[in-house]
Amino acid sequence: MKLNHQVRLYPNNTMKHVLDSLCDYRRYCWNKAISCWNEQYESRLIGLPESVINKLKNDVNSLTLEEQELVNQYPTPSHYSVQSELVSQKEDWQYNFSSRVLQQAVKDLAKSWKLFFNNQDTAGRPTFKTKKSPKQGFKTDRASIRGGKLLLDKPRGYQGKWYTIRFRGLTIPDGKITYCSITRVNNKYAATFTIDVEPTILPKTGKQNAVDANVDHFDTTDGRVSLRPKTLNPLYDKVKHYQRILARKRCKNPRVINSKSYQVTRTKLQRTYERITNIQKDLLHKFTTELYQNYDTIVIEDLDVKKMQMSKKAKNLHRSLFGAFRQMMEYKSQKFGKTLIVADRYYPSTQRCSFCGFIKTGEDKITLSGNEKYGTRHNEYICYHCGYKDDRDHNAVLNLLALVK
Ligand SMILES: [Zn+2]
Repeated sequence: MKLNHQVRLYPNNTMKHVLDSLCDYRRYCWNKAISCWNEQYESRLIGLPESVINKLKNDVNSLTLEEQELVNQYPTPSHYSVQSELVSQKEDWQYNFSSRVLQQAVKDLAKSWKLFFNNQDTAGRPTFKTKKSPKQGFKTDRASIRGGKLLLDKPRGYQGKWYTIRFRGLTIPDGKITYCSITRVNNKYAATFTIDVEPTILPKTGKQNAVDANVDHFDTTDGRVSLRPKTLNPLYDKVKHYQRILARKRCKNPRVINSKSYQVTRTKLQRTYERITNIQKDLLHKFTTELYQNYDTIVIEDLDVKKMQMSKKAKNLHRSLFGAFRQMMEYKSQKFGKTLIVADRYYPSTQRCSFCGFIKTGEDKITLSGNEKYGTRHNEYICYHCGYKDDRDHNAVLNLLALVK
């Protein structure tokens, strides 16, 4: 199975320069590929008579030999037709760069056209990329790990020095890197490795469980796991402290945002956020792995719905964690050879009584602040049908668990 691993890169100055120019080169290739694609498309429209185009649409077999030759002369733009044109137009300076960058750029362009035409891509039509965009990057399938460091493929024509790149992050499991995507955001470099790994099948336990995910905690039949342990309090205090400083500065003078001292404080704030997220992701990793160690089948909810229910403030902080949780649950179920069930998005896991199956509707519904009509608290579930009483999240867990057949 294939796994994606993201790590932070720490290139030396030489390699920083190399990475930057590769980002520029990727953008050059991508933009050139788009214009080449468009040209091929247009020249086909102009070069082929309408009768031939109609035949292509309706009955390809009715083309005469001459018409077939004409069609071959004006190919539909594709991965191969664009790549061969770009390669044939290569200039001398381009041999200083890995040929993989060009190949991947054309491949990715072909992919996004396909997604666009199948209406699967929300990003829409592929567009030209600009140097001003804060996120830059490139991809290669010839990277490898050497002595715990990343080694990029050095092009033949390249004369300068070439170093391995130190990285930090998760320990990279053994196995060949099939793919490496490097990004630069705000002058920070990161790499995502796609690695082929053997699944590590965990022993079967014959048990199942369900997870009810909430803003800062997860419930299972084993109890609650908090994503906001007390040890994080000093960091949250720091966040508050920096936010207050920034707000005060903005109040005094709105134009202060461009000043050096403001930006320094903002960087500190961002760094604190990063540390919190890293700790929380770590907790998530432990939590999800333990789940699969102890259980064969896990039921989770469709978290998109949960995301929408959350307040705006909670959203900003925890949206990424919900995504991370779902992702971890998915790839770990494959990795460990276990089963993950995702509940239907309309499954009323909060409103259903786990004892008698009664589903609350209308005014009886339990909301984030409890129930006004009956004056129940937000963490209480009381069934008006059979009188069953439970903790709200625990009741949801039991409802999810009922989905296992
Ligand atoms: Zn009931």
